[in-house]
Amino acid sequence: MADTIFGKIIRREIPADIVYEDDDVLAFRDLNAQAPVHVLFVPKRAIASLDEAKASDAELLGKLLLAAAAYARQQGLAEQGYRTVINCNEHGGQTVFHLHVHLLAGRRMHWPPG
Ligand code: IMP
Repeated sequence: MADTIFGKIIRREIPADIVYEDDDVLAFRDLNAQAPVHVLFVPKRAIASLDEAKASDAELLGKLLLAAAAYARQQGLAEQGYRTVINCNEHGGQTVFHLHVHLLAGRRMHWPPG
């Protein structure tokens, strides 16, 4: 797949406000935050979109979600609650084609989303 800005962040070629890292996952603050807490969880091994994910990616996708949940718990966000979002392709609002989970918290979320 084509390189993206998230690949450059993972390789430390451009700066980011990194809040969590392990062997498989990097998490950093969204540049254009849509909530008081807005963190992006990205797999270091890139998958372009959820539509491109394969059965062999199941463990990595699980790690991504669990990393977001653990971060939310550790930051004291879980009790009040938070939202996780994966945008997929054009109508889903995806703009960076390196699959990522948005973690949004710190305010009440609305439904349906825009
Ligand atoms: P998407 O629209 O679901 O693909 O989300 C992409 C997100 O990446 C958007 O919320 C952007 O604000 C965010 N973003 C784009 N470039 C950067 C960056 O360099 N650092 C942090 N966040 C970024």
